[in-house]
Parts: sequence; C-alpha cells; structure tokens
Amino acid sequence: MTPAPPTTDQPIVALSGIVKHFASGTLALDGLDLKIAPGEFVSLLGPSGCGKSTALRLIAGLAAPTSGTVEVSHHQGEARSAKAIGFVFQEPTLMPWTRVRENVRLPLTLTRAPATESDARVEAALARVGLTEFADSYPRELSGGMKMRVSLARALVTDPDILLMDEPFAALDEITRFRLNNDLLALWRNLKKTVIFVTHSIDEALLIGNRILVLSPHPGQVKAELNAGHLGFADLGTQPFELLSRRIHELLFADTVETALVNEVHRGA
Ligand code: ADP
Ligand code: MG
Repeated sequence: MTPAPPTTDQPIVALSGIVKHFASGTLALDGLDLKIAPGEFVSLLGPSGCGKSTALRLIAGLAAPTSGTVEVSHHQGEARSAKAIGFVFQEPTLMPWTRVRENVRLPLTLTRAPATESDARVEAALARVGLTEFADSYPRELSGGMKMRVSLARALVTDPDILLMDEPFAALDEITRFRLNNDLLALWRNLKKTVIFVTHSIDEALLIGNRILVLSPHPGQVKAELNAGHLGFADLGTQPFELLSRRIHELLFADTVETALVNEVHRGA
C-alpha cells in the first residue's frame, strides 16, 4: 500500500505547453503539460517514440524545448543542477575499466566533492542498493540487474531531490525487474525523493507508479492520468489490476484525437 499522492499545487517539476521539434523535422512533443509534486512517484507510460526520453531530457536540462516552459524547483530552492537531479538511463553505461565503487563515485568526482564526504556518500549509496559486498568488483563481473543497481547508486550518490529513470529495467528479465521494482519502491518510501519513471510496460507502471501519466503516440501529449497508488505486487492478476490494465490498453490503442484529450483520474478502489 502506497501513500496518497501529494498535491501538485506547488510542483517540483512543471512542464507547460511543451513543443519539441528536432532539426530533422521530427515533432517529438506537441503541447505536453505536466505537474509533479515533491515526493511523488510518477510513471510516464507510452509507446516507443512518443517522446518520453525527450521529456526527461528537457526536465534534466540536457535539451531545450522549441517552445513552452520547463520549471524545476527544489526543496532547498536551489537552481537546477547535476546535483539536484539524478538520471538513470536504460543502459547502465558504466566505466568498464574501474571498480563498482569508483563508478558510483563519478558524479562526486565531477562536482569536486571533498574526499572524506565522498567516501561516506559512496558507501551509503552502495548500501542502499545492496551492493556493499560488490564494491570492489568490476562491471563485467556483475549481472544485468546488479549493473543497474550500480547505475541507481550512482544516481543517488549526490542525494538528488529528483530521480529521473528512463526505462531502467526494460532490458532485464522479469524476475530481476520485479525485484528491482520492489527495491526501488522501498527506496522511494525511505528517501522521499521525487521519482519520474519512464516505462512502456503497463504492468510496471501499475505496480510502481502512484500516478500514471499515459502519453499519446507520437507526438507526445498527456492522454490520461490514472491513480494506481492503491495497487501493488499483491494485486497482480486481481480484478482491479486487470481492469486498470485493460483501460490503459484501450487508451493506448485508441487513435482518435478526441480520446487523446480525455483526462481521467481513477481514485483508489
Ligand atoms: P521515446 O523515449 O518515447 O521512445 P524519444 O523521446 O526518444 O521517444 O523520441 C521521440 C521522437 O523524437 C522519435 O520520433 C525520435 O526518433 C525523435 N528524436 C529523439 N531524439 C532525437 C534527436 N536528437 N534528433 C532527432 N530526432 C530525435
Ligand atoms: Mg526512450
């Protein structure tokens, strides 16, 4: 059971009227609006190519919108910075020549954090993802799920307010994915970070997102908003889970623009 979503009256992330046109002529996002409250766990769910990664890159400040505004604020009122946002990519992109511990340390090295403080942060981040005993391993010695844990520890090591995750578990087998989903939820409950989790898996979105924003196919807009905070692993295969899953299927496969503008919120059963 997850707590009720906080209100978005004072969002930590707000995108309004986002249009993103690439020089290639691709219109990736066309009128994307979303607001995310501090401490929320939101799933962005949509088909491949609908602009999910583009939306995360805009939030991270790695790209600029063609028009529209991206506002990111932080609990401490800091300006947006690498320290305030952790990014977990689909590929763990670890440095193969150095050990797990040094891979996790990388963001602190880049921000020139003091060594003693860095050591403590690295060990804490490793412990959070259950990797303490693998700190001296090389990435090639780890399974896919463990590499992803390294990537997660690296994103957490700066203690960011916002964690952006771009289909992080998509390449993993189902059992490993469930375990990581579970651990990520536990981390979120403990650390109280804002998590924006991109997925193209309906089950994954239902299991771990408190709120699901369903994006329309290319170009991306928010098609519907659903509350799945009442669903967890114990609900897999039950009727409420299947009903919401079917509803999302319908939304994703309906291709009329009228449907794309429906905004519905399902409150907990
Ligand atoms: P998703 O993550 O939902 O699969 P993306 O955000 O990666 O979608 O891409 C949305 C659309 O924008 C796609 O058609 C993709 O080909 C295009 N796109 C993404 N990045 C670029 C880029 N740097 N240059 C040109 N087109 C891009
Ligand atoms: Mg993507």
